[in-house]
Amino acid sequence: MGTWLERSGQSWKLTTYPTLRVGAAILFIYGMHGPKALNVLSMLFSFGLALLSFLLPRLVWCQVCRLHMESSSMARALPDHDRSRWLAGLDRCPACGDDGTATAESRAAWAALGMTPEPAYWSLTRLLWVVVFTMAMMAACQVYVRRPIT
Ligand SMILES: [Zn+2]
Repeated sequence: MGTWLERSGQSWKLTTYPTLRVGAAILFIYGMHGPKALNVLSMLFSFGLALLSFLLPRLVWCQVCRLHMESSSMARALPDHDRSRWLAGLDRCPACGDDGTATAESRAAWAALGMTPEPAYWSLTRLLWVVVFTMAMMAACQVYVRRPIT
């Protein structure tokens, strides 16, 4: 019973990341307006939580064919606001047909097909660009908020 997401044991990734985003926002605001001594520490923790909240949904993958659900070509064909609903409603993996339990039979059936898995959209290069861009934006916010008032 349940959905592919529940059977695969990965639903916690989609229920956890919004809380992490709120935590990142609170730490970011505190880092900008709180005591200067805690500024860097708050911003680093904020960045860490923001990055984790970004990665968690992208770490939902099929244990059989390694399809990264949230960033798969099928998910990217949908509007952004429909992706979570699509993912939460999946009964089977759209690529290999596994029901989320990743049984030996599912793995054997996938291997027998001889298909190659869809490459992950979020390659290391793309992830590094996200890290660099996010850090640059956070630094720019710091410079803007901490500038002397003239
Ligand atoms: Zn699959």
